[in-house]
Amino acid sequence: MAILHPNLASELASQEAKTFVEICVHRRVLASEKPKTLFLKRFYKTISTIKWTLILLCLSSFWACPANAQLQRFEFSHPQMGTLFQVIFYAKDSTVADFWQKKAFTRLDELNHVFSDYDDCSEITRLANAAGRNAFLRLSDDLWKVLALSQDLAQQTEGAFDLSIGPLSKLWRKAFRQQQFPDSADLHVARPLCNFQNIELDQRHHAANLTQKGMRLDAGGIAKGYAVDVLFDLLKKSGFKHLLVIGGGDLRVGTPPPRKKNWTIASKVLGPDQQVIDGELHLKNTAISTSGDTYRFLEWNGQRYSHIIDPRTGLGLQHRMLFQIQGPSSTLCDALATACSVLGKEKCEKVLEKHYPRYRLNVLLWSGNGE
Ligand code: ADP
Ligand code: MG
Repeated sequence: MAILHPNLASELASQEAKTFVEICVHRRVLASEKPKTLFLKRFYKTISTIKWTLILLCLSSFWACPANAQLQRFEFSHPQMGTLFQVIFYAKDSTVADFWQKKAFTRLDELNHVFSDYDDCSEITRLANAAGRNAFLRLSDDLWKVLALSQDLAQQTEGAFDLSIGPLSKLWRKAFRQQQFPDSADLHVARPLCNFQNIELDQRHHAANLTQKGMRLDAGGIAKGYAVDVLFDLLKKSGFKHLLVIGGGDLRVGTPPPRKKNWTIASKVLGPDQQVIDGELHLKNTAISTSGDTYRFLEWNGQRYSHIIDPRTGLGLQHRMLFQIQGPSSTLCDALATACSVLGKEKCEKVLEKHYPRYRLNVLLWSGNGE
């Protein structure tokens, strides 16, 4: 039975409490029919007081530790969007847990079909295929939300975050696969196609038009964070509050596990001498995203190029960085971590202060200049 659902759980609590009170009231009524000598009256009064105290104690302990005692930890994973998604939550029974993890991962598959630019039939690919035809395409709620947010972020970061990075990221992905610097003629063609100002949005109809033929959108810097939020919200609404959702470098946690103060998460952290070491994060009710060139990069002629691209130069970032952004929404943490990698520490902090005061930057590694 899905007693983890908050409504259902409180309904059950009030039903059980009601039943308990009814039994006791019934006994009191029976007791009041006994002989009414002074001694017995006092005796029954004392018993009755003890009973009511006990009832209140029972009820208060019932409300103080609702069903937690029997919660078990469940962990599920599902590969999608080029990474592994994991959900961990506490539930009373495996049937309920299994039902909801399937629902969550079915939704994740749907999201992949919206955002994947590897999928020829995805919504984002269909939008790219209509580029340059002066045609506004109506978008799903998911794509609209991500596109609208990305355009805001592009404005706020002066184009450091750019969803239209697709033609350049396609060249750089190939470069990583072949471990070969992209062809400069190809870079020359791709660069002007990457410009967020060539994405037109129709607010009223939630529609978009890519003005230049050859434009492609790449949601790799935001879609995983968005998916983490969607899964988190779905599971939370289903009653799972002790909840953790991870999608690659993006994670969001809710209430800590029962009887714990925080979720403990293995992560890169700064050591005592400011060096990056393997450590632990202790988190609750927050999201955190990490961006950096730790795993995907090209080394060419003594230079290192990251999978995060500077839209101004068309090149993978050449400075070393490992940035973490923490705040309430995983979507924003993800996108801001990518944007800040391009912006650098100081500009990033200015953007956060001005537009996202609930988000903070944690620099694990930064080899850039003061920019
Ligand atoms: P990861 O995808 O490894 O978790 P990020 O969240 O930092 O890392 O996103 C990097 C991805 O974002 C790239 O692989 C690419 O798909 C996309 N991207 C690269 N440069 C930009 C940029 N300037 N603006 C928006 N998205 C970008
Ligand atoms: Mg990101």
